[in-house]
Amino acid sequence: MRSTSYSELTTFQRCPWRWGCRYLRHLEEAEPSAGLRIGRALHEGLASYYTGKYPDFKSVDSEEDRNLCRGVMRSYVEKWADSDSHMYEVLAAEWPFVVSVPTPQGVRSNFRMLGWIDLVVRNHRGEIEVMDHKSGKSFPRSGTELSMDAQLLTYLWALRVLGVKADTGHINLLRLTKQPKFDRLDMLYTADRLGRWGENLYKVCRSLPAPSTTMDDLPRSVTRSCYWDCPYYDICLLDLSGDDIAPLLSSGFQMSESRRTLSAYNRSVPDGWLR
Ligand code: SF4
Repeated sequence: MRSTSYSELTTFQRCPWRWGCRYLRHLEEAEPSAGLRIGRALHEGLASYYTGKYPDFKSVDSEEDRNLCRGVMRSYVEKWADSDSHMYEVLAAEWPFVVSVPTPQGVRSNFRMLGWIDLVVRNHRGEIEVMDHKSGKSFPRSGTELSMDAQLLTYLWALRVLGVKADTGHINLLRLTKQPKFDRLDMLYTADRLGRWGENLYKVCRSLPAPSTTMDDLPRSVTRSCYWDCPYYDICLLDLSGDDIAPLLSSGFQMSESRRTLSAYNRSVPDGWLR
């Protein structure tokens, strides 16, 4: 059975050559961008906060990043602590799941999806809801911009596969400036839409290249956004020019490590989540 993730599927759909850098060559930037570093630190900080341990961000290397994270967290708690405690019971944070992706006929396929749900809560009506944290320097211009963002949809679909009737999620936006701002977009999905999303995930899984694929087999999807959204931009340009990419690979990249073994992912939900 082949394991995949939402992140792998979207990377492949964005650009097969980029997918190859990440999932065939296992390349990660040696120096992640500030946005990535801070986003990761805040995700961990929010997971600690929602499980009862206020984060100190001591493990964040740079003092500037650390102070930014601490300031954002302080303002976040001021903004949401009161309403969160009235509205939600926290069930889990950074909850790892593995589900097999069914075919459109509902039969078990050869693919399984791995992921982590940022936050699982129970609302005052006893219903399960999920939250997806997103941080960045600016907010989307409107909720419509995120209506095709499939991270939340994938969380809810995975819970459905595991037997939880959850249909509501929240995109938890954190704007990272000296005066941070926050917002939440509430999204409600019908069972029908979640089912169709599952079918789409299955189709994307099937379009992934065979394990024997090499970089030479993969096309590039060049767009104007390559420059700002692709960590492999410089390698890609050098390679296209026929230059040797080895020096850049050894100075700017490292091999990524798998975060957890398969046994660390949940294959079922706690009984209390089922209704
Ligand atoms: S720079 Fe563009 S074409 Fe090259 S790997 Fe990245 S996304 Fe693909």
